Amino acid sequence: MTTIDSDTLTQFAPDANALHDKVILITGASDGIGKALAVQAASFGATVILLGRSEKKLSAVYDTIVESGGPTPVMLPLDFLKADGGVYLSIAEQIKADFGRLDGLVHCAGILGEMTDIEEYDGTIWQQVMHVNTTAPFALTKVCIPLLKTAKGSVVFASSSVGRKGRAFWGAYSVSKFAIEGLAQTLADELSASDVRVNAVNPGGTRTNMRLQAYPAEDRTKLKTPDEVTPAFLYFLCDTVGGVTGQSVNAQ
Ligand code: NDP
Repeated sequence: MTTIDSDTLTQFAPDANALHDKVILITGASDGIGKALAVQAASFGATVILLGRSEKKLSAVYDTIVESGGPTPVMLPLDFLKADGGVYLSIAEQIKADFGRLDGLVHCAGILGEMTDIEEYDGTIWQQVMHVNTTAPFALTKVCIPLLKTAKGSVVFASSSVGRKGRAFWGAYSVSKFAIEGLAQTLADELSASDVRVNAVNPGGTRTNMRLQAYPAEDRTKLKTPDEVTPAFLYFLCDTVGGVTGQSVNAQ
C-alpha cells in the first residue's frame, strides 16, 4: 500500500485541469468544508453534484461555480433525515443516466449533536447524529459503488480526531466518526481489487458553523478556513495519485 506524508497532503496543489471531465458528488456542499471543496473541485474542471439540505444555500454555491466559469453543477437538495432507500437508488440511477459513472464521492455532511456526557445524552439526538453522520454515508455509498467501479473512482469520508480517540462530551458525534473510520477501512479493503480508492480525512479545527457550535468562545481567527483544508480532499480526488487507499489522514 502507498503511504503519504503530511506535507504532500496539506500542500497539494492540483494542476489546472486535474479534475477535467470528472464527476464528483459532494455531500454537505451547501456550507463549510463541503462548499469550499465543491467550488475548488469545479475550478479544477470537475462537474460537481451538490448535495445539501438547503436548496437556497445550494443555489448560492451553484451560482458561484457558474459565475466563475466552472462546469455547470448539479443541484441535489436532500435531507438525510427524511430520505429512504428508494431516494438513494433514484440518485444513483440519475447519475448513471446523466454521466454513466461517478469519479468521486466526498462525504462532508455532518451534524454535531449534543455536547454532553453519555449519561445525559438524548436518545433521539443520538439517533439523528448516527443517521446523518454514519448511516446516510453508508446508504449513499452503497448505491454508488457500481458507478465508482466503472470510473475507478475515489471515496473520501470527512472524519474527526474524536473518531480516532474518544473524548468526554462528544457523544454520538465521536462514535459516528469512529464508525466512519471503520466504514472507510472496510470499504477500502473490499474495493481494492476494483481500483476504487477509499480514504478518511480529518479536517482538523476549521472555521465553520459546526466548529462554532462546538467551541463558541474560541478565537476563530486562529482557525484554518475551509479553503485551507481542501488540499487533502483534492489529493484523493486527483488521478495523479495512484493506488492510495485505506488511509486515515489529517488535513492540517
Ligand atoms: P458545517 O456545519 O459547516 O456543514 C455541514 C453540512 O452538512 C452542511 O452543508 C449541511 O447542510 C449538511 N447537513 C447537515 N445535516 C444534514 C442532513 N440532515 N441532510 C443533508 N445534509 C446535511 O460543517 P463542516 O463543514 O464544519 O464539517 C464538514 C465535515 O467535516 C463534517 O463531517 C464534520 O464532522 C467534519 N469535521 C469538521 C471539523 C471542523 O472543525 N469544522 C473538524 C473535524 C471534522 P445545510 O447547509 O443545509 O445545513
